[in-house]
Amino acid sequence: PAERTADHAASIWVEFTTLAAETKAVNLGQGFPDSPAPKFVTDILEDLSKHPELTAAHQYTRGYGHPMLVDILAKMYSHFYNVQVDPMNEVLVTVGAYLSLYYAFLGWVNRGDEVLIIEPAYDCYYPQVKFAGGVPVPVVMNLAEGATSASQFTIDFADLESKINQKTKMLVINNPHNPTGKLFTRQELEKLAEIAKKHNLIVIADEVYEFHVWDKKDMIRFASLPGMYERTISIGSAGKAFSVTGWKLGWAVGPKQLLEPLKAIHQNCVFTCSTPTQMAIAEAFRLDWPKFLNDPENSYLATGLSGELRGKRDKLAKMLEEGNFRPIIPDAGYFMMADYSHLKEGLNLPKDKDPDDFVFSRWLCREKKLATIPPSAFYSDRENKVKNSNMVRLCYFKKNETLDAAEVILKKLG
Ligand code: PMP
Ligand code: GLN
Repeated sequence: PAERTADHAASIWVEFTTLAAETKAVNLGQGFPDSPAPKFVTDILEDLSKHPELTAAHQYTRGYGHPMLVDILAKMYSHFYNVQVDPMNEVLVTVGAYLSLYYAFLGWVNRGDEVLIIEPAYDCYYPQVKFAGGVPVPVVMNLAEGATSASQFTIDFADLESKINQKTKMLVINNPHNPTGKLFTRQELEKLAEIAKKHNLIVIADEVYEFHVWDKKDMIRFASLPGMYERTISIGSAGKAFSVTGWKLGWAVGPKQLLEPLKAIHQNCVFTCSTPTQMAIAEAFRLDWPKFLNDPENSYLATGLSGELRGKRDKLAKMLEEGNFRPIIPDAGYFMMADYSHLKEGLNLPKDKDPDDFVFSRWLCREKKLATIPPSAFYSDRENKVKNSNMVRLCYFKKNETLDAAEVILKKLG
């Protein structure tokens, strides 16, 4: 095999999603909703499927993104960023947010260039930067002792700045944050913006959970900060926006010159994404966007999605407390972390080469039939993995029956 793949073992998704399926566990592990997808979205796809004669819907479309989709995305992000986003040059549609991220690293990182990653971090950033020949540089967030809120994960800005040198090219910001559910404040983002400007960094703003925020005012998109559009590649996901993660459609938005290298890779990698799903997502946005602006009560993206999520968050937090976990209450997104230290003493789990949260998550899945994700996988170096192995990550975007089934298991644990 090529050297670049040499030190890559199976990712947590490969291991824990397989384990959850094999053990038929109640799955609060991998992040996806298990309730029906919004009908107004799947209806659009159904309509397209009823028209085989519509070649425009079933054959290749424009490589950089279906005109209808880039058009509505440009309209929306022009509003969010308060700049004029050009649909034909400043939006690129990709296979999931994953490929926008990967293209951004491949397109901008030269061998030896350094990329700052705020940890815990979504687990694909680190290997993707390495595949691109870059050097990932972790900046670990602090969590106050006994914390109960995801907002208590904080960045030490002096530490971050001390890691910047001539080779530092890029900063990756994930907001709302996976796995913690933290929503970065304006003050925190402004500080990051100041650092990005001072050191001339490109910023990757992974904002796939941008609509999963209880009050939409609180979502501050990085590219909307003064002077930041020019240096930011913002990344979104249709799978997340409309709760259809299996559709695997994402996008990168940014100024033309920042997107050019991503397009160079895309045109020779997949060239174009699936046409009917792009059309369906475009139509879904076109239906929802006017409501988002003028009738939020009836908008899926403004209130439908987040309203549903908030209730589920509260339910899971309560259940976890009953199970003797200490939940860290998230402000946004799909996920919640919870400390299992109180349970640990009675369990006597074996020591393993993997951090304790891997051992605990495997045990919980195999023996108690509850699937979670070990968050130490979101740290890159061994010391930080070990230091941060007293929690599990749970996805609460699950139907009530799934949460109820998890409650039965948690009650018995508590
Ligand atoms: N970034 C983050 C923070 C994620 O949680 C995910 C998982 N969906 C992705 C990117 C990838 O999104 P997609 O499924 O659209 O590729
Ligand atoms: N982003 C989701 C999560 O964090 C799904 C993971 C994946 O598809 N690899 O659980």
